Amino acid sequence: MTVTEEWCDRCGEAAATGAHGACAAARALEPPRYCTRCRRRMKVQVVPTGWSAVCVEHGEIRC
Ligand SMILES: [Zn+2]
Ligand SMILES: [Zn+2]
Repeated sequence: MTVTEEWCDRCGEAAATGAHGACAAARALEPPRYCTRCRRRMKVQVVPTGWSAVCVEHGEIRC
């Protein structure tokens, strides 16, 4: 499966440019902040199983 991630889901910068190692490390502990496909800020809710993040355009992402 190929997923195109255009935007960093933590800092919101273009995923192809810059270093996102720190973002990836932080994302192991935190929910995403930005949709990787449209760069919208996502609505994040903490749920008992972890968290859920909702993009108004692309729907819910759970982890
Ligand atoms: Zn980043
Ligand atoms: Zn989106």
